[in-house]
Amino acid sequence: MAFESKLANTEASIFGVMSQMAAEHGAINLSQGFPNFDVAPELIDLVSHYMKEGKNQYAPMPGVPELRQAISKKHLQCQDTFYNPDSEITITAGATQALAAAIAALVHPGDEIIVFEPTYDAYVPLIEVQGGKAVALELKAPNFLPDWKEVEDAVSPRTRGIILNTPHNPCGAVLTENDLNELAAIAKKHDLYVISDEVYEHIVFDDKKHISVGSHEELKKRTFVISSFGKTFHTTGWKCGYCLAPEELTWEFQRVHQFMVYSVNTPVQYAYADYLSKEENYLQVAAFYQEKRDFITKELKDSKFKLTPAVGSYFQLLDFSSFHQGSGMELAEKLVRENGVALIPLEPFYSKFTAPKLIRICFAKTNDVLKSGVQGLKMV
Ligand code: PMP
Ligand code: GLN
Repeated sequence: MAFESKLANTEASIFGVMSQMAAEHGAINLSQGFPNFDVAPELIDLVSHYMKEGKNQYAPMPGVPELRQAISKKHLQCQDTFYNPDSEITITAGATQALAAAIAALVHPGDEIIVFEPTYDAYVPLIEVQGGKAVALELKAPNFLPDWKEVEDAVSPRTRGIILNTPHNPCGAVLTENDLNELAAIAKKHDLYVISDEVYEHIVFDDKKHISVGSHEELKKRTFVISSFGKTFHTTGWKCGYCLAPEELTWEFQRVHQFMVYSVNTPVQYAYADYLSKEENYLQVAAFYQEKRDFITKELKDSKFKLTPAVGSYFQLLDFSSFHQGSGMELAEKLVRENGVALIPLEPFYSKFTAPKLIRICFAKTNDVLKSGVQGLKMV
């Protein structure tokens, strides 16, 4: 029997592919985005404490109340925007499951969703599996922010929503207040919904600030804001995130969420709730990563790669146009085999447009690992 695939054109995720190649070649892995730092002992102790205390059965479907309250407080402090912990916050199994539930709730067969290339790998398959169609626009160098005139032109009677990512993976771009105003005008005019992937919300550099799409009054009514603790607390393997949305959208989200996963890891939720009570635990993250971004910027200065420092996220794009005329994929394979360092090529982030001559490095690593990786990159 031939199985009729719903995602026949989908390849294995590039993040897994490159991590496996790094392992096979014994290369320094600066490809897949995950930190190699120890998790704070206090956070581990809290999980263990709650496990021993017996918090080991199903959490309530929307998440444990203590964590929803802590998120509400953090968001009010950081974004001056209130989400009701009882009706507007859902704890999810990482941002990926939040994206899956939001997209499943939003997209009907035949709906169009505007996405931006380079596109994080999960968005398009999740739209297509619901029978929707992704309409891709291009983010262009040097600032990689949406061209709002192009967005307006791309809206059709079938357009139901837009997916945004700020701070952006892999470009490191961060939306500005002006972007939100432009988006709000288009969303209001055409009655569109927004899914805003903000997993790197606490990783923004220099004098810039992350502005949550939900902090805009007009946009809040129509936006699912999605985030993940994995990035903020070096705990990507714990797969715990959340979705903020007004009550009506939260209920639509939860109608899907309850049958997708019902609820997520209970002791981890209690532990995060306590850990969030100390604001330095999330407010210090930006400075921690800025040191790393600056470290690789300095180290790569006398290499053949050119870079414009990322505004946010823990990724940096490197321009290889001066010395490699082939694809990023070819360069990534060469780097892993010959230079002992694994990076992420941008081709898998593109389906409509041509990938630029850029390759992604993840700098969520200890400085000794970054230094060894950079040494390999300097050898090209
Ligand atoms: N969105 C973006 C932009 C990401 O970079 C990632 C993971 N690196 C995710 C979503 C998924 O987050 P999680 O691991 O919490 O599912
Ligand atoms: N989001 C991470 C990255 O961009 C990887 C997540 C995954 O492996 N699915 O590298």
